[in-house]
Amino acid sequence: MAVSTGIRAKVAILGGGVSALAAALELSDPRHRGAFDVTIYQLGWRLGGKCASGRDLDMPFRIKEHGPHILFGFYDNAFALLREAYAELPPDPARPFNTIEEALVPQTSFATIEQVDGKWLPWVLSLPKMPGETGEPPPTGAEWLTRILDWAREGIGQLHSEAIVAELASDGHRLVEAAIHAVSNIASHLLAEPVINHVVIAALKLLQRWLHDFREAHPSLSDDGRRICILIDLGVASAIGALADGLLLPTRERVAAANEVEYSTWLTRHGAQRETVQSTVVRAMYDTVFAYPQGDITRPPNVEAGSGFLTQRAMLGYHGFIFWKMGAGTGDVVAAPIYQVLRARGVKVEFFHRVDALVPSEDGGEIAQIRIGRQASVKRSPYEPLIQVPGGSDQRLDAWPDRPLYDQLDQGAALKAQQIDLESRWTPWTDPLPPLLLDRSNGDFDVVITAIPPAALKLIAPDSAPASWLGMFENIASVQTASLQLWMNRSLAQTGWTALADPTLSGFDACQLDTWFDASDVLKWEGGRDQLPVQMAMICGPMETSIALPPQTDHDFPTRSQQSAFQLGATFLQASAPLWPALRANQNFDMSALFSPDNAQGEARLREQYWVAAINPSDRYVQTLVGTSRFRPAANKTGYRNLFFCGDWIDYGFNLGCFEGAVISGLQAANAITGDPRPILNDPYSWR
Ligand SMILES: Cc1cc2nc3c(=O)[nH]c(=O)nc-3n(C[C@H](O)[C@H](O)[C@H](O)COP(=O)(O)OP(=O)(O)OC[C@H]3O[C@@H](n4cnc5c(N)ncnc54)[C@H](O)[C@@H]3O)c2cc1C
Repeated sequence: MAVSTGIRAKVAILGGGVSALAAALELSDPRHRGAFDVTIYQLGWRLGGKCASGRDLDMPFRIKEHGPHILFGFYDNAFALLREAYAELPPDPARPFNTIEEALVPQTSFATIEQVDGKWLPWVLSLPKMPGETGEPPPTGAEWLTRILDWAREGIGQLHSEAIVAELASDGHRLVEAAIHAVSNIASHLLAEPVINHVVIAALKLLQRWLHDFREAHPSLSDDGRRICILIDLGVASAIGALADGLLLPTRERVAAANEVEYSTWLTRHGAQRETVQSTVVRAMYDTVFAYPQGDITRPPNVEAGSGFLTQRAMLGYHGFIFWKMGAGTGDVVAAPIYQVLRARGVKVEFFHRVDALVPSEDGGEIAQIRIGRQASVKRSPYEPLIQVPGGSDQRLDAWPDRPLYDQLDQGAALKAQQIDLESRWTPWTDPLPPLLLDRSNGDFDVVITAIPPAALKLIAPDSAPASWLGMFENIASVQTASLQLWMNRSLAQTGWTALADPTLSGFDACQLDTWFDASDVLKWEGGRDQLPVQMAMICGPMETSIALPPQTDHDFPTRSQQSAFQLGATFLQASAPLWPALRANQNFDMSALFSPDNAQGEARLREQYWVAAINPSDRYVQTLVGTSRFRPAANKTGYRNLFFCGDWIDYGFNLGCFEGAVISGLQAANAITGDPRPILNDPYSWR
């Protein structure tokens, strides 16, 4: 749909997560010369959605995250948009971060931990800084294969150094060299010519056979040797699968076929050993995408092979750094600067506006009305949502508070006294104002983008919505998550963890909360207190999730869920000895390691930390279970002429729930409207 009437088209964006922000940035891009009059309608007091964070106003200025976030080096569209947004902020010497790179902390290593003969052993994976930077064209299929084989060569070199196996390792060397040779000699024909792919597959299979024989002949390799074998096996099986299934040069049909197979089954089918598929490295991949149906970690994890491989290929095709951590709260680094840019461009954000219903026109062809519940009214418009957090050297960070700024609201005193959570679906709060009815025929909007994920969209969908909507509601699954933030008065070294400075760890299958980030970098933005903690750990994992939502009148559901999240946190601490061996007292976690300004004792110290159950329909992590991509709609396939979808849950390309997916989807929705599309970077369907 190209809107080119010469009159500013009014676009209503429903929801204010990352996908919505990306769509709004693109629609308000100066390139479109003000063709779009954009308004975002967002419930509650902040933007960011799953990436939202808030600063504690009681204990200034603790960061409370919705869930920990890292940005991968292949997030080309996200980096491009964020670079542009940062560049557009007016110069301000007090602003701590002038570029997105300054606001992030680059990483070159990732950790997992495995149990071997009853002992827990950390496993650090180093992923070196690569030439170039995020946003440059991705490697071609042949370059990607060569990168994987180069790493295999390096691994075999390390096996070589295990004296006992030197002779066999040199055979491996010859085979990997042969495979690299095959790839480089036929690179220009590779992928397009199935026959030539078979030559490479044959070379890779020889390498795979050698590796398996080698492993069988050496059942008691050192841990390093065993891990190298697992990593090579994983890389080689992925490469064989990618060539055999045509996924290095993906087409929609090829990816759709692979998406009917589960990722581990696909690896096995292409020759990966059981030891590899069951390794903690593969487990960590699943854990980072909360891949457990209904959050049940005792069930096998589940990810589509096609989507899984596309993401794996993009991820390992990174330029610069493999991933980046946040240098402050996710909302401060991402949503706050974008909000400031949008506002300067004239985009309106209506906070405290909860979309309750989409109403189609009589002929059912378009959205005619949008019913919106007004949760609160502002004393003076516009609502000013940000606060400033002081830092060292006269710097200050614009940030989101963890609650509405009550003094700006007519109902502020009541909201505060009743401790109302306006983001909760189960809040007992009743709207103080009659609903707002946006009407297309009154010129309230022309075009609508819904950036609300399926579990929440279902609640506002028209009864008469096309059958495809039912398919997406029934098949695109999402899962509740729990996160715990621990402020500690022990440094990382004092915890007993020595394997990796500044760790990001996943795959800790001793408990439900299996992912741990060292988030100490954000502490410098928690000033305002006399005493300060020295370390911050963020922990998260899936929570058990029932498919049916509890009724909205179950006002106690959030409290019960918070209790469950707290229990998961307490269980994590009990199980944390493999990570933090020095934080034990009488076989238990030593609570005195937790920071407590008023020196609380025992469990009370844990209760002073922060934990959250992400249970709201739109806060659940969107999964990519086998065979579900076919229920993901394209941005412009809504069944209504003036309605577009965005969100990490649409068919945006890689189809895994991630920040980059949200950004791409937002750009796709905006592109469908403007008629002057912004190119999508690193689109798998244009890989060469
Ligand atoms: C715990 C956790 C950790 C994660 N970690 C990472 C990570 O490290 N790296 C990464 O790349 N990705 C990560 N993700 C995924 C990432 O957060 C999401 O992919 C991304 O934020 C999705 O953005 P979105 O715009 O699609 O949806 P959302 O963020 O869900 O946005 C939806 C918006 O709509 C609003 N809304 C909902 N209903 C209504 C309504 N009725 N009226 C008005 N507004 C409404 C919501 O409040 C929200 O603002 C993580 C997700 C979770 C849950």
